Amino acid sequence: MARPVLRTCVGCRRIREQRTLVRITADPSGGVRVDAPKAPGRGAYLCASLPCLEKAWHRRVFPRAFRRALPGLDEAALRERFGAALQRRGVIAA
Ligand SMILES: [Zn+2]
Repeated sequence: MARPVLRTCVGCRRIREQRTLVRITADPSGGVRVDAPKAPGRGAYLCASLPCLEKAWHRRVFPRAFRRALPGLDEAALRERFGAALQRRGVIAA
């Protein structure tokens, strides 16, 4: 049996199975892609939980994780896209 792949949530710092986490990657327009497991580039992982996204946002985790400024990143838009990803996963009700 394959050993589960573990990643750390950048919000709460808990270690979880990668498949349960939402992957965030930088996109070329200076924003991020949400829950795009196959997107190229450095990824940051979050629990499928809005409080973890908020913690990561307020600690300015994303520019550090991707080692670049993210001028296209807006908190409200990111929350909305993260929420939509959680709905797609069935984590929260639509
Ligand atoms: Zn978390």
